[in-house]
Amino acid sequence: MIGRLFRAHGEFCASHPWEVIVALLTLTACMLTVDKQAGGGGVGAGVASMAASSATSSRHRPCHGWSQSCDGLEAEYNAADVILMTIVRCTAVLYCYYQFCSLHKLGSKYILGIAGLFTIFSSFIFTTTIIKFLGSDMSDLKDALFFMLLVIDLTNSGTLAQLALFGTNQAEVTNNIARGLELLGPAITLDTIVETLVIGVGTLSGVQRLEVLCTFAVMSVIVNYVVFMTFYPACLSLILDLSRNGMDMSLVRAKAKDSILLKALNDEEQKTNPVVQRVKIIMTTGLMVVHIYSRIVFSNSEYETVDKKLTPQLNLNANSSRTESGEITDMIIKWLTMSADQIVILILLIALVVKFIFFEHRHELRDQLRQSTVALVAKTSQTQALNEVEEAAIVPPMTATVDDSSQTEIVGSLPELTVTPPGANVRSHRAPLFTIEEQNLVNAYTQTDSITDVSQLLPLVKRQVEPRPPRSLQECLQIIQSTEEGCSAANLTDEEITLVVNSASQHCPLHNIESILDDPVRGVNLRRKIIFERAKVPAERMDCLPYLHFDYRKVMNVCCENVIGYVPIPVGYAGPLLLDGNRYFVPMATTEGALVASTNRGCKALSVRGVISHVEDVGMTRAPCVRFGSISRAVEAKNWIYNEKNYKKIKSEFDSTSRFGRLKECLIAIDGPQLYIRFVALTGDAMGMNMVSKGAEMALRCIKKEFPDMQIISLSGNFCCDKKPAAINWIKGRGKCVVTECIIPAQTLRTVLKTDAKTLVECNKLKNMSGSAMAGSIGGNNAHAANMVTAVFLATGQDPAQNVTSSNCSTGMECWGPNNDDLYMTCTMPSLEVGTVGGGTGLPGQGACLDMLGVRGANHAHPGENAKKLAQIVCATVMAGEISLMAALVNSDLVKSHMRHNRSSVAIAASSKGSALNVTVSSCSSIS
Ligand code: NAP
Repeated sequence: MIGRLFRAHGEFCASHPWEVIVALLTLTACMLTVDKQAGGGGVGAGVASMAASSATSSRHRPCHGWSQSCDGLEAEYNAADVILMTIVRCTAVLYCYYQFCSLHKLGSKYILGIAGLFTIFSSFIFTTTIIKFLGSDMSDLKDALFFMLLVIDLTNSGTLAQLALFGTNQAEVTNNIARGLELLGPAITLDTIVETLVIGVGTLSGVQRLEVLCTFAVMSVIVNYVVFMTFYPACLSLILDLSRNGMDMSLVRAKAKDSILLKALNDEEQKTNPVVQRVKIIMTTGLMVVHIYSRIVFSNSEYETVDKKLTPQLNLNANSSRTESGEITDMIIKWLTMSADQIVILILLIALVVKFIFFEHRHELRDQLRQSTVALVAKTSQTQALNEVEEAAIVPPMTATVDDSSQTEIVGSLPELTVTPPGANVRSHRAPLFTIEEQNLVNAYTQTDSITDVSQLLPLVKRQVEPRPPRSLQECLQIIQSTEEGCSAANLTDEEITLVVNSASQHCPLHNIESILDDPVRGVNLRRKIIFERAKVPAERMDCLPYLHFDYRKVMNVCCENVIGYVPIPVGYAGPLLLDGNRYFVPMATTEGALVASTNRGCKALSVRGVISHVEDVGMTRAPCVRFGSISRAVEAKNWIYNEKNYKKIKSEFDSTSRFGRLKECLIAIDGPQLYIRFVALTGDAMGMNMVSKGAEMALRCIKKEFPDMQIISLSGNFCCDKKPAAINWIKGRGKCVVTECIIPAQTLRTVLKTDAKTLVECNKLKNMSGSAMAGSIGGNNAHAANMVTAVFLATGQDPAQNVTSSNCSTGMECWGPNNDDLYMTCTMPSLEVGTVGGGTGLPGQGACLDMLGVRGANHAHPGENAKKLAQIVCATVMAGEISLMAALVNSDLVKSHMRHNRSSVAIAASSKGSALNVTVSSCSSIS
């Protein structure tokens, strides 16, 4: 609820940036004006008095600030003050420098710029507040501004900026800012309240200096919060909107995408700890009581008298700073006059600037160098034989100690890794700390800046620096079972884990090894070693199946079990394909040479006039088989379900299982006492099989309440019909039904496809219509729709087995135009089962391919639109493949092009080498 309020607020600020900024500036200007109009004796003085009263509970306080303009303060400006304030200022400068460096590391000058703007604007508002509300003069700012810098937290502004940069259009930017405030807002608000109250306690201390410092700090916290919640989101939205046309933000966005800040923000598990939140709320309540009590006591006592005495003095202060220009000049001179502490600050500032300009970039260069050389070794290690790779071993200077308590120790040490290029003689100073597998693992980790990766590296390095003989099975089992801190399977060596797994102990089942070790890469590596050993596959063959550089957390419980690696499939593109006025580059994953080239040629032919498409969301289906005691009872149940009132009841049960799954209809087939109830449902952007299965199960429960004698034979009764050829999908449709049409001019037919309309139409009639009829084909009136369907399915993370139904396609061709020499072509695909969320669509590579088409993930504005668009693209790609193959067939080009693209000497050589077990690692890489 609170989150939603913040979201609405964020949405408003981001969608009305001008209004918010102007309103804030007007308010600031009003603050200045009101004070002037009041002549220092009205509102301004009142506020000053209030501020003074809240800020200074001291009964003996001569003035509210500790500025040099106040009587007697210069005397108080003793050595202790100078030292204390110098420390505070230095800390503020260092803290500010550290924050900007952290933002700089995110790699975006935009984030740095926006954060800088935020700081400047906050400081401006803060300055105004201090001068106008507290009645302070310019000299107070010297200290106040340092407090501002000390309190400002740029982490949140950096996070919000990254979220905003993640948006590809203004609507997404607005949505991301709203989402950012929804997530950050409640926590920041609570933190602000807690900070204000905690620091506010200092204003009740009775110690004059402390009170003033705390007042500044409280004002800083409040101003920082107000600006972050209003000006900042508005300004962010405005800058991104204005920069959209002029600047290339793709790199920034790419970096923003990889940001661990964003990942943390989006990760549900990383949400704020509820215990900490509760403690903060309790603290807030307690501190509120303290404040109310203290302030009521003071307001009822002598404090009021003190306040009255103070007010004219403050007004006098404020008036004098405003009116007398001579005093202002004096003040400026005082400001500019160098005291010892100012010299210290100046030296510190210069040192930091020099460090940033001359040394920070060196680190970057060194890091870049390191990354490229480490990548080189990684590449080498995959393509060279073992002994060659050993020559290129890493020589880490951090040979002995790794501090358990500090993961950053390791981050700091890694840049020092010395990598020697292959071929160089390094044996003399090489410390063989890592085996080749561990070296690969190090490479996998060091190619990223992510801190989480480095923490995963820690146990590995620890194992390396503390070599020991394997412990007994008994000891290993004790460690796994122990509940003591620091005792877990992760502490065992690979050898010990293998011992436990091979002992068939239930404590470390092979299928669950990643979870037990809490390290997917190590788990997969161990499993493949064990399995390859059991299957008696030689080690060099094992290396041909890659397993590194893959985020297995995205696979676990979603895409695959018992993982031992992954099979790379080359991905090509076909395009541009002009479809409904938009150009697409279609990713296709295949190992059939000539397929992509052929489809590409088809895209060229179709894109002369462009393809027009129409899509209908037919709905995903699941049809359970249920059985009754008699046919009359079965008929009774069928009629009951078809009854409108009962159907509504079933629908409401079905719909309750998902935010997007919506029952569209029930189609019932009867066979003896059995009913096959085909539930048809809309499933948003998901392909929807899990969704509709879940809904069907719930709907059956509802029916069973009415017919307790109903026996559920199977949730899937094959009347669905999933992953099997079936006429029902061809006739009734399943998933999305798409129709595309295109006119290809005679000239294009001649130049691109080397044929003419009449020949193609003739071939289409005899091959795709009559030929398929002769074969008794259902849904197969096409040349090779399954080729394009499967290639796009693999590239975009669709369920590959659903190519069965999805490849149903009827290809139509007619002669067209005034001379009847153009070609009018259509493709009708009634059962395309596609989705852009769920299943394999969440994997990084597949997600990137969906990004190429602009349909990755859920369409928040119009759920279902992304999936529909993907279906249209698939059908148009099929059309491109169809026309190209048909042209190749009529030209007798098919065999020729397959011999050229599909049976090249390299492929033949590689596969024949691959069949022998003694192939080298480098030949394996050419196969894959
Ligand atoms: P799913 O990943 O199981 O479900 C989609 C999830 O995304 C749901 O949790 C849904 O929310 C959420 N979602 C968020 N935004 C959405 C949006 N705009 N539109 C739709 N959903 C949105 O995906 P599925 O498509 O139902 O199932 C696909 C998986 O099922 C694939 O892995 C496939 O291989 C597998 N499969 C299963 C069967 C089977 O019989 N079960 C058969 C074939 C294939 P809600 O929680 O609110 O719904």
